[in-house]
This record gives sequence, structure tokens and C-alpha cells, in this order.
Amino acid sequence: MPSAHTAVVAGTPVDTRHWIGGHRVASAETFTDASPVTGAPLARLSRGTATEVDAAVTAAADAFPAWAATSRAERARLLHAIADGVERRLEELAAVETLDNGSLLRSHRRGVMPRVAHNFRFFADHPLSLGRDDLDTRGHTHHITWDPAGPCALITPWNAPLMLASWKVAPALAAGNTVVLKPAEWSPLTASLLADIAAAAGLPAGVLNVVQGYGNEAGAALAAHPGIRRVSFTGSVPTARSIATAAAAHLTPVSLELGGVSPLLVFADADPELAVRLAVEQYDNAGQVCLAATRLLVEESVAEDFLRRFTTRVAGLRLGDPRDEGTDIGPLIHPRQHGRVDGYVRRALAAGARAVVGGGPAGLPGGLHYRPTLLTEVAQDAEIVQEEVFGPVLTLQTFRTEEEAVRLANGTRYGLAATVATGDRERAERVSARLVAGTVWVNCFFVRDLRAPFGGSRLSGIGREGGDWSFDFFCDVKNTVTAPGGWRGHG
Ligand code: NAD
Repeated sequence: MPSAHTAVVAGTPVDTRHWIGGHRVASAETFTDASPVTGAPLARLSRGTATEVDAAVTAAADAFPAWAATSRAERARLLHAIADGVERRLEELAAVETLDNGSLLRSHRRGVMPRVAHNFRFFADHPLSLGRDDLDTRGHTHHITWDPAGPCALITPWNAPLMLASWKVAPALAAGNTVVLKPAEWSPLTASLLADIAAAAGLPAGVLNVVQGYGNEAGAALAAHPGIRRVSFTGSVPTARSIATAAAAHLTPVSLELGGVSPLLVFADADPELAVRLAVEQYDNAGQVCLAATRLLVEESVAEDFLRRFTTRVAGLRLGDPRDEGTDIGPLIHPRQHGRVDGYVRRALAAGARAVVGGGPAGLPGGLHYRPTLLTEVAQDAEIVQEEVFGPVLTLQTFRTEEEAVRLANGTRYGLAATVATGDRERAERVSARLVAGTVWVNCFFVRDLRAPFGGSRLSGIGREGGDWSFDFFCDVKNTVTAPGGWRGHG
């Protein structure tokens, strides 16, 4: 039965309070979360401050010794139970997330939410095989262990809220840590549902805590808290700087997964249809994807043909309500984000860029849809090339030689990902080796494996997530060196 602290979103009751130490906790102040799909307010949520953050870190610290001492197998059992809960409530999670952040319902149902469950299962099981063979130094044994580090702060963005939270919550908990999760203020609802799911799965009180609120209040207090042993953050570069500065006071290790202006290199020897498909995929999630290859770098001799095919494909994309099965591009998350994207495009046009596709708001009801846009005649040092727009806006530059392609690709301050379309295997190897990027995709895009590292170079981040890399970050890695013999008694 809905109470004063429940919002019913897409038919699902969502508790609007924090989740601290196994209890729902309300704040005196609230903030309003509105839907980019309907424009209507969805919920008034408790607005966390340093007080709630401190209570959550204390709860996480209290729960830590018992959770750290729990066997990996038992922790895995509980994380699988959370995955079961995610799968059971998949339709609800998908519907709530869509209303909350405007991403496509069909992606949430078929791709994103199943991956959330998969993330919990993968990271549940990974520690069971985590380990190295002992080393021997003149009879001395080096035994390496991954010890839980303590309470962790997990701070997440709005573009893939539950997916990115599960990327952090699952390995942190599997490693034996306790966590305080601070979801983004524009899309906080599925984090509250995750707290319900974890509680129903039997996760002990205080192991997972959720504090909602604004970044500069709850987020800043969490990153700066002396009781935190790790800060794992996904979001923008300016916020990363604040978080790293706050964490530096206690030398708390930080993992930073940030943005990018990744390139897609299209060589003349590439399959033209594949190259165009890869390019059009960059409009997924209305371009609000950190990995998006926003810079199309196309060999001059095929640029005209590429552009013709690209324009035809984009004309077939349908903008609309993200709940409709036929919609390809939904709204941007927030009027502020819409204004930001449009500002970038207007400044680029004023600076001489040409919009060969799109170039402005779509003028649909709600006012948050932006036309898929492709800008040409952009210089390498132009703002639109160098800065992350985080909307459905791509640029196209041409190159004549492989050397020039690599130079343009590497010519920004970012290095999250790069995609190469070519039919020449040797070229693929040569070019991939020279690209500055955490991930290079060759003739494919967005193929991910949780065993592989993921992260960025340069301004795109610090550290890698996935597989052992997640556990290297979330653990204190210890080497115990034991001398041979010398034991009392037998053996
Ligand atoms: P953001 O940096 O504005 O916010 C991210 C989170 O940080 C939110 O929870 C916010 O409340 C919090 N925050 C804001 N100020 C804070 C502060 N001073 N101290 C502590 N926390 C604070 O980012 P966003 O706009 O929500 O997300 C978009 C950005 O995220 C883009 O730059 C995108 O590229 C990046 N991103 C990166 C990845 C990746 O894996 N590399 C994935 C998704 C998004």
C-alpha cells in the first residue's frame, strides 16, 4: 500500500527514502525527480546530506567485519540471490528505468536489465577462482591474497543507472567490502529498488547502503568521508576532479570511469555497409553513452559514398516515446542536458560547421528529443571535436593516409575507446597498436566481456574495471612470505 514515502512509478511502488543499515531513513529535505518521457514529477526523494552519509558509512563500517569474514561461497550465494531478484523484477526495473532516464524500454528489457543480473552472477563467481600460484624464493613461499578493503563509496551517473551501479556494487560486495551507493539525482529510482531486492535476497543489514541526493551535497560528503576505503566513480571529468581532490585528503584510492570523444576510423578497404552500421549505432541511447564514437574519421576516397549511405540510414531512425517498441531514439534526460547539447551544436554551426544531418531540437512533444546530427567542416581543435557533447551529435572528418587517421584519432585529451573499420588485417593490427584507448574494437562495437578490462586513458579515467582488475581495486592485495621449516612440533 503506497505510503507518504512511496512513489508509484510505472505501477511499481518505489520507496523514496535512503537505505541505511537495513532501514529506510527519511531526510527532512527532499528533491524532485521528473521523467524525461512525460515531463511529470515521478517522486520526491529524501535529499541526503553529510549527516545521512555519515550514518551510512557508519552502518557500512559496522557491517564490514562480519561480511569480510563471510566465506566467498556464501557471498556468492547471496549475490546470485540478488541476480535472481533482478530477473524476477526485470519488467518492473525496465519500466521504472525508462520513465526515469528516458532510455529505450526495449533495450532495458532485452539488454540492460539481463546484463545487470549477469553482472551480479559474474562478480559473485569470479573470486572463487581468484588467486595465483604460490611463488618460491629459496624455499620461502609467497602466498598472494585479495583481502577486503572496507567500506566503499560508489558514485554513479544517470545514463545507465542500474547497469553502472551493478558494475560496482557486485565486485565490491563479492570482494568482501561493504558499500554506500550514491545514484545520480536525475535517475535515482532503480537504486532504491535494488536495495529492496538485496534485502529480500537476505543480504545482511549495512552491507549495501543507498544515500540519495545531489552530487555537491551527498556525493561530495561521501567522497570526502574518512571512513571510506575506496571511491569508485563513473561520471564526468569535472566531478572526477572534485572527487579525486576530496579523496586525496585521506589518500583514498579512486577508480574513475569518465567520458570520451572516441573515434571511428573508416578506411577505404572497409565493408561500407558495416562501417555505416557502426556509425549509426553511435546514436544509441540518444548519444548519451560514454563510449560513443562521436568522431567519424573517414578516408577521403570513400567519404561521399559513406555520407550517402549514412544519411539514408539515419533517415530511417524513429524518434519518439522510449516505451514504444518502434522507437530508436528517445528524449535526452533533462532540459539542462538538452540545452547543453544544443549549445554545443549552435556554437559549432556559428564557427563554420555544416549540419549535413539534423542540427537542432526535434520539436516533438515534451521538447527533449534532439535530431540525430552529423556535422562536417569541423577543425581538429574545434570545441565540438574536442569536448564530450553527450547527445546524438557526431562529427565527420576525412583523412588521406593511415598516419593522418591515427594522428586525428589520438588528437584529443581523451582515450576511452576507438573503433576501426577495415578489411585489411595487417592495417587493423598496426592501427590498433597505435591508438590511445582503453578499448579498441575492430569491425565491431560494444562487444564486452566481464573478464576483460574496461576503462580509459588520459582524461577518460584512472584504473580498469572487469575481471581481476575490479578485485585488484576493491581489495588490499597482500603477499604473505613464509620461511621454510622451523615449525614447532611435527610437520
Ligand atoms: P556527473 O559527473 O555530473 O555525475 C555523476 C555522479 O556524480 C552523480 O551521482 C552526481 O550526483 C555525482 N556528483 C556530482 N558532483 C559531485 C561531487 N562534487 N562529489 C561527488 N559526487 C558528485 O556525470 P553525469 O552527468 O551524471 O554522467 C555523464 C558523464 O558520465 C559523462 O561524462 C559520461 O561520459 C560519463 N560516463 C562514463 C562512463 C564510463 O564507464 N567511462 C559510463 C557512463 C557515463
